[in-house]
Amino acid sequence: MTAAHSPRPGATIHWTERPGPIAVLTGAGISTASGIPDFRGPQGLWTKNPIAELSANYRNYLGDPELRVRSWIARRDNPAWDAEPNAAHLALAALEKHRSVRILTQNIDRLHHKAGSTPRKVLELHGNMFEAECTRSAELCGWRGTMREVLDRVAAGEPDPRCERCDAILKPGTVMFGQFLDEDVLGRAAAFARAGAVFLAVGTSLRVHPAAGLCEVAVEAGADLVIVNNEPTAYDDLATEVVREPIEEALPRLVARLAAAG
Ligand SMILES: [Zn+2]
Repeated sequence: MTAAHSPRPGATIHWTERPGPIAVLTGAGISTASGIPDFRGPQGLWTKNPIAELSANYRNYLGDPELRVRSWIARRDNPAWDAEPNAAHLALAALEKHRSVRILTQNIDRLHHKAGSTPRKVLELHGNMFEAECTRSAELCGWRGTMREVLDRVAAGEPDPRCERCDAILKPGTVMFGQFLDEDVLGRAAAFARAGAVFLAVGTSLRVHPAAGLCEVAVEAGADLVIVNNEPTAYDDLATEVVREPIEEALPRLVARLAAAG
């Protein structure tokens, strides 16, 4: 720590000038500027099509073959296949040159990877849509492969492809509603939240637990919580600062200040 970072007794420093690691939680709002609709916003996937929310529920998915057929088509047509990272993703990737950064993302679109963030520094809390897996556990089967190869089977005439190893139902490599998050991933996420001097929550409504609870973990450990989101969240009162500007404009500016302080 340099002298410039030491607050005078009784004085406080702006959160962008606090030394130490930065943890960033990102949600759907960071990717809307890349053409991927969010879930609960005015133009959200689930606002406009409540059926889509049902298909994100694991029990419904397992129990309803028609729903699975529609789900594979929706995955084929997902705009995330061709989406490009926007200024917010790029700013976070660039921040790695100046500061210790860990990204915890609720998104399954891999745009942090495409933007150049170091893969081991990005924790995908809900998995990602570019992988597929067998619904039988690792003890019973545990097959994992690419979404592309499963969608190729759909295109070749299998509307609801089964696991080629054990014939069970296949699903994307994402955490669906009604499924538990991976314990190891969750443990690492909490450790990142605790270690950060600053915890940035970007583009997330903070309504999905346990990801949202990471804000509390960070604040209890002494981090400054900064929320960048269009809509109010339940955690705004805990925040050092709440930013309501468009994310792809606000984040590059905030990140530039963080980089300068590093
Ligand atoms: Zn299997």
